[in-house]
Amino acid sequence: MVAAGLLEELRDFHQRYNQEKVAENCQDYQHGIFQSIGFKEFHEYLITEGKCPQETSALLLEKGIQALKLVTKRYARKQNKWVRNRFLRRPGPNVPPVYGLEVSDLSQWDENVLKPALQIVESFIQGRQPSADPVKMESEIKEDKRSHHMCELCNRVIIGDREWAAHTKSKSHLRHLKKRRKLQLKLSAVESRVSVTETQGDREGTEDLGQGRN
Ligand SMILES: [Zn+2]
Repeated sequence: MVAAGLLEELRDFHQRYNQEKVAENCQDYQHGIFQSIGFKEFHEYLITEGKCPQETSALLLEKGIQALKLVTKRYARKQNKWVRNRFLRRPGPNVPPVYGLEVSDLSQWDENVLKPALQIVESFIQGRQPSADPVKMESEIKEDKRSHHMCELCNRVIIGDREWAAHTKSKSHLRHLKKRRKLQLKLSAVESRVSVTETQGDREGTEDLGQGRN
């Protein structure tokens, strides 16, 4: 958000709509647009910018960014909880299908999140069934206590659906997942380097050939 110009936007908004309220001591961050996440967190920074030493300003900015991260995470957790309680745990005729997307790998954001999300929304607008399956209502999930799940990452067999669900969220499994991703990144970096050297090699080869003919 900061890289995308959050600060300029905040400054502009502060100057146009907030400065006077603050000066008149009648600002209220609990109501209306002023309560939105990512504004009140920068209050100290915005009201002191240009009126205090650079280092103080930098510190206040950092403080604002940390606070923004905290409230954004808190809000995301709240939203997840709300969707789970309002929809997934209370199935009924008025409950819309909920679609889950894999969002943990930022490097795959467009492929894993943006594209499928747009497809789902488009299908909805056109009245078609999306190709993705909605998340199962919790009451639909029949637990199999004897099912076998092989975790290729951890090289372990997990017995029982509930245990399997717990395993995929466990620290050790996530650590393996992280390792695997790092390895893949390294591999693809090496591969791209190899292909660069190969093309260079080819070019040198042709140059040699030309010289040979001369
Ligand atoms: Zn595992």
